[in-house]
Amino acid sequence: MKSEYYIELAQKYGANNYHPLDVVVHKADGVWIYDVEGKKYLDCLSAYSALNQGHGHPAIRQAAIEQLERVTLTSRAFRNDQLGPFLEALCELTGYEMALPMNTGAEAVETAIKAARKWGYQIKRVPQDKAEIIVCEGNFHGRTTTIVGFSSEAQYREDFGPFTPGFVMIPYGDSAALEAAITPNTIAFLVEPIQGEGGVVIPPQGYLREAAEICRRNDVLFMADEIQTGLGRTGRLLACDYEGVRPDVLILGKALSGGFYPVSAVVTDREVLGLMRPGDHGSTFGGNPLGAAIGRSALKVIVDEQLVERSQEMGVYFKGRLDRIESDHIVEVRGKGLLIGVELDLPARPFAEALRERGILAKETHENVLRFAPPLIIKKDEIDWAMEHIEAVLMNGSHS
Ligand SMILES: *Cc1c(COP(=O)(O)O)cnc(C)c1O
Repeated sequence: MKSEYYIELAQKYGANNYHPLDVVVHKADGVWIYDVEGKKYLDCLSAYSALNQGHGHPAIRQAAIEQLERVTLTSRAFRNDQLGPFLEALCELTGYEMALPMNTGAEAVETAIKAARKWGYQIKRVPQDKAEIIVCEGNFHGRTTTIVGFSSEAQYREDFGPFTPGFVMIPYGDSAALEAAITPNTIAFLVEPIQGEGGVVIPPQGYLREAAEICRRNDVLFMADEIQTGLGRTGRLLACDYEGVRPDVLILGKALSGGFYPVSAVVTDREVLGLMRPGDHGSTFGGNPLGAAIGRSALKVIVDEQLVERSQEMGVYFKGRLDRIESDHIVEVRGKGLLIGVELDLPARPFAEALRERGILAKETHENVLRFAPPLIIKKDEIDWAMEHIEAVLMNGSHS
């Protein structure tokens, strides 16, 4: 079947809430994607970093198949033999005492907000319903009504109000603004160590350390949304590791399942998640045995295959190659590890289209930024191959 057929069907029956590149994926393996017409593409998006381990990683697939054949869903009404080992692996890898598993990233952010508020009322003793959480301009934390309510992106909010109160917005990368925004009712600061959807925006050196210190001094929880930056993407296990910052609340998702299944989690010490009581929070699918088996395997792959180190090494190489391209369209190349953004002086979409023509799938983010975030298993010769095309497209504008 031709691509047009599938595109028309999806257009006809699907809500039009995305503007995808018109490549109809049929299968994928490692860093490669194949469309319904048999054309092959290098994946430079990794499903927004959910595929750090690469498509269809054999070890995760094996764990998934074995679990699929035993039991997939119990609901938390019963216990299962996969949840404990998964939570143990997650806490040991990240160095925390407790975790609360959910499914999507947005759910984990919602969970973190609830956990922080509970901490705020029970431990910090903020008056009931007065808790404030500070967030940053340019943030992306997901798409629920509460979360889009504290987005600075007009389109994310438009016609979706009214929104949840209790959020205060400050500029990103400005620790003085954080200090100034804190009131006796501030319970948490929610921040991405690098703003991925915001256009791969890297805050000034030292910002995270200063912000964490300000939070500590003011008895405010430092909550890091590492859904996109975590689990090796930036060349460290967590992007916060670059500044030696240990968040009070760590939010993970995406690569926590290696792309097999939605698995997310909030990870903290006992002081925060230890406040949760039966009935406070839940999810029918959260912590199910299939997701837990997949999550544990996904974490093991990151460790066993040294994907953090690979991301660092290949990221330096990839960014170094981009830095050497002398195109008038490039405003800035920025990134850490294999989370790289190329800011252009033109809309990035036509460049993404031109790259697709040449067999590279990358996506524009924030209008003028092309994001390159391939699976962390990418090899040097694959980067070399991609770079010829990336260079040609960036040199010739979108008309190559
Ligand atoms: C993708 C993302 C989310 C939302 O995750 P979903 O699984 O799409 O709900 C939240 N925060 C950040 C930083 C993300 O990149």
